[in-house]
Amino acid sequence: MAAKKKLIITVRVNEYAPRNKNKHIPLTPDEIAATAAECRAAGASIIHFHARNTDGSPCHKPEMYAEIVSKIRARCDILIDSTLGQITVKEDENRLAHIRLMGQKSATRPDFAAVDTGSSNIDAYDAETKSFKTLNKVYLNSTETCLFLAKGMTEAGVKPHLSVWAVPFVRMVDAFLDMGAIKEPAYVQCVLAEGGIVGAHPCTPRGLEALVDFMPANRRIEWTAACKEGNLLNVAATALARGGHLAPGIGDYPYEEIGCPTNAELVHRFAELGRAAGREPTTTDEARAMLGIART
Ligand code: ZN
Repeated sequence: MAAKKKLIITVRVNEYAPRNKNKHIPLTPDEIAATAAECRAAGASIIHFHARNTDGSPCHKPEMYAEIVSKIRARCDILIDSTLGQITVKEDENRLAHIRLMGQKSATRPDFAAVDTGSSNIDAYDAETKSFKTLNKVYLNSTETCLFLAKGMTEAGVKPHLSVWAVPFVRMVDAFLDMGAIKEPAYVQCVLAEGGIVGAHPCTPRGLEALVDFMPANRRIEWTAACKEGNLLNVAATALARGGHLAPGIGDYPYEEIGCPTNAELVHRFAELGRAAGREPTTTDEARAMLGIART
């Protein structure tokens, strides 16, 4: 029997998560770089991070992003996936500013950045109080914005990874591939959500499979699963069985039920699940080959 496809583990180290639930959230460039090296050793081949100020608030300084990438590169060979600052940054050009700066030098250039291929209301519903915690959190990504970001990233030598929150986002991926705005192989991240965020599919096997079932079969796509504010272990077996990859991280969820692990401990756990399913974690070179990333 042929060996099964290897498993790409992306670790989502911090997002904008506070430290009060899991104290291991990395904030500073040195902490993020140390986490990257530990996670690489534990089986991750991609790191996704957000720049943060020392008080934990979001940092949008392009220089800070460049410093983090160069510090990660100095520590290990992990592939790097930078955020665009999600809904906390307005205006398309501002969302791309740090990508343009980082792209100027190979030492600071990330391998990926995210394009979310649609818009969603991401207010969290609280069933206890029968109300929403916020009312106007629209994660707005017009088609024009997506195409602008994809073009700017490609010009900067950064591969767009495509985040999909619902089936229409998957259909948009197909359109972007069809028009050549995104090159194959595409790297698609299925974003599931819990914690009352009803603007994405739930972190259940059916929630994930609904996205996967709509992936265009005639395209070269590698997909991964992530979950905002929920336990990704709930869909790990489904992703592994369907040939998908996994993107866990304590930035998305503190994993209190398994003792608030470090990012590396969490990666180790998902790597073991992969091995048990015959899906050995990739090296970074293997991940590069699968995702069509040139060595810089
Ligand atoms: Zn993020």
